[in-house]
Amino acid sequence: MSTGATASHPILAAVGQTPLVELTPAFPELPPGTRLFAKLESVNPGGSIKDRPVSRMITRALAEGRLAGGRRLLDSSSGNAGIAYAMLGAALGVPISIVVPGNASRERLDRIAAHGAELILTDPVEGYDFALRHAKHLAATQPERYWYSNQYANENNWRAHYETTGVEILEQVRSATGGLPDAFVAGVGTGGTLTGVGRRLREAAPQVHIASVIPDIFPGLEGLKPLGTEGDIVPDILDEALIDHRQIVPIEDAVATCRRLARAGYYVGPSSGAYVHLALRVAALGAHRVVVTVLNDTGERYVSTGMWAS
Ligand code: PMP
Repeated sequence: MSTGATASHPILAAVGQTPLVELTPAFPELPPGTRLFAKLESVNPGGSIKDRPVSRMITRALAEGRLAGGRRLLDSSSGNAGIAYAMLGAALGVPISIVVPGNASRERLDRIAAHGAELILTDPVEGYDFALRHAKHLAATQPERYWYSNQYANENNWRAHYETTGVEILEQVRSATGGLPDAFVAGVGTGGTLTGVGRRLREAAPQVHIASVIPDIFPGLEGLKPLGTEGDIVPDILDEALIDHRQIVPIEDAVATCRRLARAGYYVGPSSGAYVHLALRVAALGAHRVVVTVLNDTGERYVSTGMWAS
């Protein structure tokens, strides 16, 4: 692809415009009159919500000539962004290098490799912050080889959600209910979803309640950062002022919710179970009638973790 080219490929057009599904019937414990909705992000071509920010980051980098001369796009990822970069890189002819903690599920690592991206694995025990620091180090020491996309600081990450996910939620909630969302629940990996959707919803509905899932420190929830412990890197793009309420969700609760969702037809990964678990807690307060959250990725990506074994 030549410098300054505008990227165009049918796969880019397949990203986003996901269904907003109503989960209310699956959770009879919801207070009467309260409705729970979720964006079904597993239908994106890369199987997760990360296709949205990655398509924006990669196409902007191409348009700005950042990848001229065969420079590789480098980033760190818990796996889903890595899949999106690898898939879109393969489609657009952009060489990709991804730094992933070694504890990422086998399915993620295999798919990144299948698309032909370079995988750089870091010590599983060190977690996402170490992978991030390693990517930074590679970019600083080999600037001629790598262009560092840095999803934790890249404005195109949250803007993708501001321009697409947030707009879709407002339109779809309006057509389903005739009104605005009263609460939004998400977690923080890079903070792109929470910041972009949160900003868009706040503009349209200033009273909207925003709640954030915090994973347990160990074993954690794939895709989400622990935040709040001394030394945790807070993503540059995360707008913490948007968050009204934070709550730790243990992995057992997240997985139990995934099992309930599977029985209702939604086969999703543990971060989605955690979001829905907290969304149910928020709904139980009785103060928010229309609660919206996100189903981030497919449950098939976690078979090797044993979460579905009975
Ligand atoms: N869930 C999963 C499974 C993810 O991979 C991610 C991204 N790391 C998130 C949630 C959080 O998304 P964001 O980066 O927008 O905070």
